[in-house]
Amino acid sequence: MVDEAQLEAQLAAIRDAFVADLPQRMGRIRAAWEAAVREGWEGDAWRELHREVHSLAGAGATFGCEALSRLSRALETHLGESIGGGTLDEEALAHARSLLESLQRESERAGGAAAPVSGAAANELQEPPRTHESSKRLIYVVQQDGERDDELHRQLAHFGCRVRVLDTPDALVDAVARRRPDGVLIDFRLQEKDIGPLRRAAELGRHEGALLPMLCLSHDKGLPARLRAVRAGCRGYLSRPLDASVLIDRLEQLGPHPGQEPYRLLVVEDEPELAEHYGSILRQAGFDTRVVSDPLQALDILRDFAAELILMDLYMPDCSGTELAAVIRQEDAYVGVPIVYLSAETDLGTQIEAISQGGDEFLSKPIEPALLVAAVRARAQRARILGGYLKRDGLSGLLNHSSTKEALEVEMARARRRGAPLAFAMIDLDHFKQVNDTHGHPVGDRVIKSLARLLSQRLRKTDVVGRFGGEEFAVILPDTPLEDARRVLDELRASFAALSHQAENGQFRATFSCGLAEMADSTRPGELIRNADAALYQAKNEGRNRVIGAS
Ligand code: GH3
Ligand code: MG
Ligand code: MG
Ligand code: MG
Repeated sequence: MVDEAQLEAQLAAIRDAFVADLPQRMGRIRAAWEAAVREGWEGDAWRELHREVHSLAGAGATFGCEALSRLSRALETHLGESIGGGTLDEEALAHARSLLESLQRESERAGGAAAPVSGAAANELQEPPRTHESSKRLIYVVQQDGERDDELHRQLAHFGCRVRVLDTPDALVDAVARRRPDGVLIDFRLQEKDIGPLRRAAELGRHEGALLPMLCLSHDKGLPARLRAVRAGCRGYLSRPLDASVLIDRLEQLGPHPGQEPYRLLVVEDEPELAEHYGSILRQAGFDTRVVSDPLQALDILRDFAAELILMDLYMPDCSGTELAAVIRQEDAYVGVPIVYLSAETDLGTQIEAISQGGDEFLSKPIEPALLVAAVRARAQRARILGGYLKRDGLSGLLNHSSTKEALEVEMARARRRGAPLAFAMIDLDHFKQVNDTHGHPVGDRVIKSLARLLSQRLRKTDVVGRFGGEEFAVILPDTPLEDARRVLDELRASFAALSHQAENGQFRATFSCGLAEMADSTRPGELIRNADAALYQAKNEGRNRVIGAS
């Protein structure tokens, strides 16, 4: 029997020994570095340096020192890529030196702190409460001293972002090494000398091949300034005045955002080993994958699981992949679900026949895992976007009126089955006609978008947010009693009222009113909506900018 506590104590002791040995390791690395600088980049010194850095990258990761590991890996990769014919040019040397310095600083820091995540902390992560720290978007803003833009930080905080201000590009490199942020905003006048370190930060934060989402905020619209930003690795260029919601929009276009749901895939394959093989490749790539080896069960699973893409074998007993695809296509609900065949079939005629039966693409077995993952991801992504257009409103990206009502029926039925509470909120912008009249319709549209974004950022993933009409929104809050809903919506109300919106003739603020209703045993969906609407009417009458719960 292994005593778990004893094991943990042993692991902690090994980790402590690793940390205690860090100064010696760094000493060896520095000595090998100096020697390589003197003797050139192909002899013993370089090999020694490479071995030490490589081993630190591995050990750091093992002992929970992620930043150390990342910086070592970055140094190793950089040196590997830059050394040619035993030499290193000036620029590459400077780049390597600054990585080494970051590594030194990080090793000193790791000596002081950095405890591994305990089992208890990991278990806490079930349903995150609304605006849980870890579900917040982490944004690094690089600003020089004395130029802090507190207003922008406050705005970002209202959208559920955590902002960390850094004052130099080098500080950004260190911060990215320690924790990859969800976005970076460069908010100072970029000079030639800043390009190297910023580029390094962008590379260090690479994710699935793409550079870190980094945006530049500047007044300078000239080409030289824009080129510097591109060379530094910035992937977008924004100008002031800047709406926090515009910034978040742009970051979102650049990469997956925290809390994005994985794509749901169904693999239909009669050979169990192959089914497991594909299943495990796809799961590792982050897809939510179900595997079925009996094609006759595929329809049932499809119904429960709401797969977004089907990977289908062609030859199976009982029924062929083509036949199953034809059956699936006869159901309206699955018309938009892509079907990708995976088969060793090479006959072109058979492939064409399979596609004409409603398949979307043909992949050949055997297939490289990377190709399978890329093909499936691209298809699933497109299908989700297209499906979203049908259910979502173009301006706000929220569910449209009819989809919100459908969701309300589903959620109410579910709550009833589980005997759980459910609250429903109707929201209407105050004096919105006036906003349009004063600032113009496009500015009004931006206010609608920023409220949409605030609602989707700050509510739980299980809450449903819809755009019910022009400037009216609906929120379904499962598992939430009226009092809790009132508290949540009132916080949102206060946050929204604190946001400032940009217009040509300056900034302005807007407010909303909200009516809330709670589901009782026999409430019908239409009745719940009417109750919330009546409460909203009352909120308007009592002076607006308030939340009222239906009695
Ligand atoms: P209150 O709700 O506080 O009683 O006053 P209100 O001025 O908001 O009144 P009402 O709800 O009757 O008017 C809604 C206005 O919202 C009318 C319309 O011009 C504007 N609106 C509706 N949809 C949109 C939209 O998509 N974009 C913009 N910019 N304005 C919209
Ligand atoms: Mg088969
Ligand atoms: Mg209205
Ligand atoms: Mg209104």
